[in-house]
Amino acid sequence: MLIDAHSHILSLAADPEFTAGYGREGSLCIFRSMGVLPSHRMPTEDEWEASGYSGRGWPLIGPAESLRDHPGFDKIVVLAVSPQYLEGRLIGTVDTGGTLGVPGPPDPERCNDYVAAVVRAAPDRFIGFASVNPALRGVRAAVAELRRAVTELGLSGVKLYPMYQHWSPADRDLAFPVYQAAGELGIPVMIHQAGSTRIDAALELGRPALLDDVGRCFRDLRVIVAHCGHPWVDEALFLLTKHPNFYGELSYLLASITRRDLLALLRRCEPMFVPLEKLFFGTDYPGFLYDPVALAEKVRSVNDEADAAGLDPLPQPKLDGLLGDNFARFLGLAAE
Ligand SMILES: [Zn+2]
Repeated sequence: MLIDAHSHILSLAADPEFTAGYGREGSLCIFRSMGVLPSHRMPTEDEWEASGYSGRGWPLIGPAESLRDHPGFDKIVVLAVSPQYLEGRLIGTVDTGGTLGVPGPPDPERCNDYVAAVVRAAPDRFIGFASVNPALRGVRAAVAELRRAVTELGLSGVKLYPMYQHWSPADRDLAFPVYQAAGELGIPVMIHQAGSTRIDAALELGRPALLDDVGRCFRDLRVIVAHCGHPWVDEALFLLTKHPNFYGELSYLLASITRRDLLALLRRCEPMFVPLEKLFFGTDYPGFLYDPVALAEKVRSVNDEADAAGLDPLPQPKLDGLLGDNFARFLGLAAE
């Protein structure tokens, strides 16, 4: 089974210009690394346009576009982005196209309704994860929204963004009631516990080790460390070996390393006691580095690097596991 365990959809703000500016800030050094933007001063508008990152942003991605860009995929996890204030503006997943039938103007407080509507568009292909921000209207409101998203909207998990929203995933007042509710609802929690190139994001709140207390207090909670903690990958891997119900998801990390480094990463997991069965393939689609087809091919062909280096190949069932079988078992979509 081929599963993208981490993708996004729709828009992050009602205003495309704001969304483009947000994306440019996070992408500046990616373009600089590729040599297409000046390295020692901020780019002009013309230089941004020439780089391919237009001020109009990216085309709107709805269910049809996501399915189109995931050929051959059995399932696609779509993650809501919960509302937060950034530069005085409320951002979060919104349907600026208005095609999903969620009533009212685009409103990030309805992020879970939009994702549920995406799932309804192709229920056999999309798996929807809700999102809540306990720092926005308090933890009681966040827990109530999570319960609604699962029991009324039918969403299958929850994605949390503490570092972007400036709260700690180890905060006993703000975060723990959300984990408690997720455990009671029987859903997994995916947490962006990794870096971000968005300047406003708080790196010190992104450290994977902040989840250790979560693992100690919620022994049965299923936790997915998004992006495998990149750039603190070893810290995240150690959490996976320590906590029986912790898993890692590879998006972003996968896009930022060569295929040879991917082989090296996968080869050192099991010697450090992280079964490859604990890792899930994900893409962070849509974005210019996050082409699901190219990223899946990078994993599928990783043994070409083993051949070139005269190393034993990774067993095919391990690669099949990474690409989707592990996640299917994790979510109960396939037999153990
Ligand atoms: Zn993401």
